Amino acid sequence: MSSVRTRFAPSPTGFLHVGGARAALFPWLLAKQNDGAFLLRIEDTDQAREVVGAVDTIKETLNWLGITWDEGPDIGGPYGPYVQSQRIDSYHKWAERLVKDGRAYADTRSPEELQHLRDDAKSKKQPFLARNYRPENPIPWQLGMPLRFLSDPKTYKWHDEIMGNLSAGADAVDDFILLKSDGQPTYNFAHIIDDYEMKITHVVRGLEYIASMPKYLNLYDALDIPWPKFVHMPHIMGADGKKKLSKREGAKSILDYKQQGYLPEAILNFLALLGWNPGTTEEIFTKDQLIKGFSLERVQRSGARFDEKRLSWMNGVYIRGLPIDELQKRAKEFWPTEASDYDEPYKKKVLSLVAERLKYLAELPELTMFFFKDLPLDYKLISTNKKLKDFSNSDLKAMLDTVLNSLTESDFSLKDLSDRLNSLLQTINQPPAILFSLIRIATTQAPSSPPLAESLEVIGKTRTLRRIRQQLDAL
Ligand code: GLU
Repeated sequence: MSSVRTRFAPSPTGFLHVGGARAALFPWLLAKQNDGAFLLRIEDTDQAREVVGAVDTIKETLNWLGITWDEGPDIGGPYGPYVQSQRIDSYHKWAERLVKDGRAYADTRSPEELQHLRDDAKSKKQPFLARNYRPENPIPWQLGMPLRFLSDPKTYKWHDEIMGNLSAGADAVDDFILLKSDGQPTYNFAHIIDDYEMKITHVVRGLEYIASMPKYLNLYDALDIPWPKFVHMPHIMGADGKKKLSKREGAKSILDYKQQGYLPEAILNFLALLGWNPGTTEEIFTKDQLIKGFSLERVQRSGARFDEKRLSWMNGVYIRGLPIDELQKRAKEFWPTEASDYDEPYKKKVLSLVAERLKYLAELPELTMFFFKDLPLDYKLISTNKKLKDFSNSDLKAMLDTVLNSLTESDFSLKDLSDRLNSLLQTINQPPAILFSLIRIATTQAPSSPPLAESLEVIGKTRTLRRIRQQLDAL
């Protein structure tokens, strides 16, 4: 039995978004759980669409996610090279064989001529099939001429490891371009040769390729190449579950998530669930659990909903699950600039106070700024606060005065602060929703904060008292 070999075969046309990253993850999981090999292959034969730097971005993204490849462009391997533009000789060799077997022909017709033929089919209300319009006396093919596959139309039945048993009539089989006039192969041709020569056992890719399967199967047969296993992953849909995920609606670069302080392990977990259903209510899986538990049988056929809120929730779960020292390491570049004046133990205290509420690390400045500097008074915080807005300024002042007097006596240990805040509730005779909101606003100028006593302990006595006095002056 040959061992499992899978590949991720991106075209370097831009960054990796969720769809691209999942297209890497599924075959990677499949290879890892079978002790097989996972390959990275760069499909760069469409030079017009190539984006400078895209290969590096793709590699950076995979590395960050921990999706490592066993064979690929920079590390090589037994079936390299792993960049299509370096494999041209091989495509030409196979093309010549097809020509010799009478299974490919030169097609030097111009785009205008071909359009004319399409219009002709349309006027006859027939679907356009290139095989109905083969050139009558094709000139012998030479390199530099487009080369078209000569199909042998027939009905196909095949199995897809996710989509099940499928079939298509002969109308789905047609002649298609193998080599362009610049000698570069099309995807339709090159991937079949590469997958064969690289001994790929499972072709895992997006559902958008499934409609071309009959054409591909016909070419496999013409080349006398055995079919690998086919695995077409369901579409990724937008949050409404109706439309395919678009660039506008969330299909942003995975590296954007990195910049926002999402954790790679959360992204990986989230991507795995874009179609794979573990069959339990459990949603959090470590990388090892994913490798063990993933199975193609449990990948759904219908579109998988991409819900960024779920991703944020999941990321929060991962953030809370990290030991505080590890979280601090990861948070390093996300602190507000003001934090650079503070030492690591102080930042650690702040971090442990806000970790509970962090969804991604780029939220740190917003959630922690008041620990690092006095924020300007924000009058709206009181005037728009449901519980406070109906109090007169003098009532609020009276309350804050009492608070100030009590806290002036405090040693600002957590215990003392908690005791004092509790007895202030009695003295002032207001519920926490009123009194603690007022103290919170005065001392943080933020609409919310971690638990009050803990926050005050970290903010410290000098700043706390100063901020309360400022608020009093303003009232
Ligand atoms: N180069 C193709 C793409 O980027 C790969 C499709 C495949 O995995 O075969 O969509």
